[in-house]
Amino acid sequence: MHILRSPREIAQMRKAGLLVWQAHQIAAALVRPGITTGEIDAAVEKFFAEHNAIPLFKGVPGKVPFPAVTCISVNEEVVHGIPGKRVLREGDIVSIDTGCKFEGWCGDSAVTHPVDKIDPQVERLLDVTRGVLELAIDLMGKRNRWSEVAGEMGTFVRDAGFAVVESFVGHGIGREMHEDPQVPNFVSAQLRRNGDFALEPGLVIAVEPMVNMGTKHVKSLPDFWTQATQDSRPSAHFEHTIAMTEDGPWVLTGPLGPKDRK
Ligand code: MG
Ligand code: MG
Repeated sequence: MHILRSPREIAQMRKAGLLVWQAHQIAAALVRPGITTGEIDAAVEKFFAEHNAIPLFKGVPGKVPFPAVTCISVNEEVVHGIPGKRVLREGDIVSIDTGCKFEGWCGDSAVTHPVDKIDPQVERLLDVTRGVLELAIDLMGKRNRWSEVAGEMGTFVRDAGFAVVESFVGHGIGREMHEDPQVPNFVSAQLRRNGDFALEPGLVIAVEPMVNMGTKHVKSLPDFWTQATQDSRPSAHFEHTIAMTEDGPWVLTGPLGPKDRK
């Protein structure tokens, strides 16, 4: 069972979320042909260190501990790419995912950027993936249960001619980055059977659709971390940490807005 957070706790989580949003602004400003993914990671690491925020990704256990503060996944890489010496080129797309813990609370967010001019069909992939996250946020304030949102997300992506990744899902978030419940971007028998949950005040979840241009299936690369599409066609990933409040969803990893002044 997942934990509901008080308005006070959600306000604390907003501090972590705002740092994650700021880190993404720094990363976004660096995306250009010629930069390495390692340079982007270093800038985010420096920002978190300067703000006493603990990076959540570095050291995550696996066959080898995750070595960086961001996951950077290029083109056909879906998630969990390791930043390093890879140089970005015009026409690439680059998914940057990062999270931090601040004063004991976590935030987690991802964005896919175009590197200069990209193929129009790939641009549509980015628009649809960003769009399905925006749709989910909007519906969280209008539906009662997650399965209703997930069903509409699946339809939105299918109607666009793309595929939702099913082997990775969003998650509850709070004191830890990954908490209950699981937050799939599609409806499955498992979700209907015993995975569904109410969209009630106090719920805090990371919603993170991953959308592939071709097949939904992914494969692991030999670095033990990177997940790529099986058909090597491009993939996009957008994520926000979102809290349900008495007056609707609050994007904790978004820019300053009206809810910050309450
Ligand atoms: Mg993330
Ligand atoms: Mg996440």
